[in-house]
Amino acid sequence: AGARPSVAVIGGGIIGLAIGWRLAAAGCRVDIFEKGRAGQGASHAAAGMLAAGAEAEPGEQRLLPLCLESRSRWRGFAAELEAASGQPVGLRDEGTLIVALTRDDVEVMRVNHQFQRGLGIESHWLTGAQVKELEPFLTPRAVAGVLSPLDNQVDNRRATAALRVAFERAGGRLHEDSPVEAVDAEAGRVRGVVVGGRAHTADIVVLAAGAWSRQIAGLPAAAVPPVRPVKGQLLSVAMDPAAPLLRHVLWAPKCYMVPRADGTLIIGGTTEEKGWDDSLTAGGVLAMLEGAWRTLPGIEELRISEMWTGFRPGSRDDAPLLGPVAGVDGLVLATGHHRNGILLTPVTADLVAGFILTGRVDPLMQPFGLDRFAATPAAA
Ligand code: FAD
Repeated sequence: AGARPSVAVIGGGIIGLAIGWRLAAAGCRVDIFEKGRAGQGASHAAAGMLAAGAEAEPGEQRLLPLCLESRSRWRGFAAELEAASGQPVGLRDEGTLIVALTRDDVEVMRVNHQFQRGLGIESHWLTGAQVKELEPFLTPRAVAGVLSPLDNQVDNRRATAALRVAFERAGGRLHEDSPVEAVDAEAGRVRGVVVGGRAHTADIVVLAAGAWSRQIAGLPAAAVPPVRPVKGQLLSVAMDPAAPLLRHVLWAPKCYMVPRADGTLIIGGTTEEKGWDDSLTAGGVLAMLEGAWRTLPGIEELRISEMWTGFRPGSRDDAPLLGPVAGVDGLVLATGHHRNGILLTPVTADLVAGFILTGRVDPLMQPFGLDRFAATPAAA
């Protein structure tokens, strides 16, 4: 099979690090260039839900097989990553509980539940009493629920930190405070990247710059991915880890809550089209806290630990952009993961690294090429 290709990765988020880890472990020379600190973009901001099943709603069929496949890979991926890094990644397997507070919520939940069951997704209908048995601190107004037992969570900050260690231990080189100024491309072929005014040559360039992916200079027009920042606000409160108010990932009508093992309870999240505006707003925080308080009144007494914003890398159809670009040899995309990038990390790393090592596009990756947008105008 000859020598392994050398690879330059643009972006040290969870996606770039995971691909870099796979490739370095396979014997490639890998350099990851990160404009700031690795893992401080969307990968830091996320809630870490691995919600392939609960999120399946009528109209999102393209993405579902990829999400389900990645969900099933997370357990093995986490075990391998923990062994390679010597660090825990906080995978929890209580599953996701969806609750309804009104008759209207019940009907919406019933439609989604039947849709998911029809697709063979494991999901169980619960009465109000059964919901309260699982989560005794929920409001008495919780009239019904659905348990999606395979939709778990991972601590995305720990997972990203572990990936960095695993990548470096596998021999990969991480360059922080090193923005890629341009992709070095000529006559339909990418030759490397320009960093700090200097050319860094590589056989393959992986574009994994999250919400910033369309801003890299030098990309041939045909290879500019239609990715835009989709703002999200989140906050967290501190539960007593010995007596937590919540154990399952919870989806309520107006918010979601994600309890970490250390007692941190993440409450989210807004979805806003505001460009690069990263402000926390009174309205956003109010909506999240009100939604959470109506569902889990006990949060009223808890200390707020943190509030933050992040930018989901949204593509035009909310599905990622993965793999080679026709007519631009040497460039590989791994971006546009929108609100599913943590969930999709294992499958993205395997498929993208697999393509770089073998030159073959896996059938699972094939629907996610940039060419799917070729027939429509080029706005993000
Ligand atoms: P990022 O983590 O943003 O990494 C991209 C990196 O590229 C950044 O570190 C950036 O600094 C760097 N970069 C940019 N430009 C350059 C350049 N020119 N040169 C060098 N480096 C550059 N997903 C889930 O699966 N489950 C969830 O529960 C979930 N919740 C979310 C909640 C919020 C509020 C947000 C914002 C996102 C959430 N997501 C969730 C989505 C998930 O966070 C993203 O899809 C995922 O983190 C994308 O990873 P990434 O590595 O592509 O992007």
